[in-house]
Amino acid sequence: MPKLNENYQNLKESYLFSEIAHRVGAYTAAHPDKEVIRLGIGDVTLPLGSMAIRGLHSGVDAMADPGTFKGYGPEQGYLFLRNAISGYYARNGVCVDPEDIFISDGAKSDTGNISELFDADNIILIPDPVYPVYVDSNLMSGKTITYMSGNAENQFLPMPDRHIHADIIYLCSPNNPTGAVYNKSQLKEWVDYALENEAVILFDSAYEAFICDPGLPRSIYAVEGAKKCAVEFCSLSKTAGFTGTRCGYTVVPRELKFKCSDGRELSLHAMWNRRQSTKFNGTSYIIQKGAKAVFSPEGMAQCQENIRYYQENARLIADTLARKNIPFFGGIHSPYIWFECPDGMESWQFFDYLLGHAQIVGTPGAGFGQNGRCYFRLTAFGSHENTKKAMERFEALF
Ligand SMILES: *Cc1c(COP(=O)(O)O)cnc(C)c1O
Repeated sequence: MPKLNENYQNLKESYLFSEIAHRVGAYTAAHPDKEVIRLGIGDVTLPLGSMAIRGLHSGVDAMADPGTFKGYGPEQGYLFLRNAISGYYARNGVCVDPEDIFISDGAKSDTGNISELFDADNIILIPDPVYPVYVDSNLMSGKTITYMSGNAENQFLPMPDRHIHADIIYLCSPNNPTGAVYNKSQLKEWVDYALENEAVILFDSAYEAFICDPGLPRSIYAVEGAKKCAVEFCSLSKTAGFTGTRCGYTVVPRELKFKCSDGRELSLHAMWNRRQSTKFNGTSYIIQKGAKAVFSPEGMAQCQENIRYYQENARLIADTLARKNIPFFGGIHSPYIWFECPDGMESWQFFDYLLGHAQIVGTPGAGFGQNGRCYFRLTAFGSHENTKKAMERFEALF
C-alpha cells in the first residue's frame, strides 16, 4: 500500500469557485427571469490580438514543413523568445539577461513548483490575502507558513518587520486580489531586508502590464540589488490574454547564490535549470512563436488596447464605489477592485446579498485568506455593457 503524502490533508477545501457556481446556479434556477452579471471572473475575456494569432499560425506552418519542423526544444525556451522578453524588460528600463529567463506554460506552475528548491525548515512569509497558489504549494510539501497581514491600515501592502527573520518571502504586486501596488521605495525596503537576512524574494508580477504610472516598478529588478535576492514570475496570461494559450516566464538571476549546510554555495539558477530540465520538456514551439509576436511593437500595442478596455471597466467600478463613499483598493494599476463589505457583512453574506438584490456575482474575500473575511473582489474582465449595467444596479442599491 502506498504511504500517501498526508500533507494534502492540510489543504483547505478549494471550494471558492465551485461554491460560487453552486450558489449562482441555485439562484438562476429559482429566478430564471433575472439577468445575472458576472464580475467575479479572474480570467480575460477579449480574444488574442492579430499579431499573436499571426505568430501562432507561423508556428503551425513551420511544423508542416520538413525544413522547419521542430521536435523537442530547449527546456528553458527558445532564445528568440528569451531575447524578445529581455528586450521588453529593457524598454521598461530594466536589464535582464536572456540567459536568466526560463520560459514556461505559465506563472501558476512556476510559482507552485519553485517551493521544491527549498527545504521544509525555512521561515516562509506569505501575505494574507493573496493568490492561493503560494500557500497551497507550500502546504503540499509539509512546509510551515508565517502569514503577513495585509489590511486597510497598511493599504494591503505588508512591509518587512526588522525584528523577525525570514528565509523566503512571497510578494505579489500588483496584488491579486487587492490590486495594491508596491512603490519603488517600498520594494527597496523589501530588497534591503532580504539582503540583510540572506533571504530570497519570490516576486509575482503577473499584472505588471496593468501599471500605468511610469514611476511605479513593473519588475523587482527596478530596485538595485534585487538580482542578488529575487526570483521574478511573469506571465502572458493577463498581459496578452494567454490564459487559455499558456505561456509564462521566470527570471532566476545567476547572481542568486546561497550557502548550503556544508558551506558550499549553491546557485538557484542552476537548481531551477536542473529542475526544469528533469521535469519539464519546454513550452510548445507554436506557443512560443505566438508569444514572440506579442513582444513586437504592434503586438504590444494590441495588448495595451485590450488592457485599456479592462482599465475603463475598472475605472467605472472605482468611480461608482467612490460616489457611494465605499473605500476601495486597486482599480487603477490592476483589473481588481477590493473593498470592505458594507454594513459589517462577511464576504459570503455580501455575496448572497449582491446576487439577490442586484444580480451581480463577485468573489468573496474569504477565498484569499483570513484577512479577506469581510472584503469583496470585483473584476474588470467583463464587457463594458455588463459592467455599466452592473454599476447602475449597484448605485441604486447603496
Ligand atoms: C493569473 C495569475 C497568474 C498567472 O497564472 P498563469 O498560470 O500564467 O495563467 C499568476 N499570478 C497571479 C497572482 C495571478 O492572478
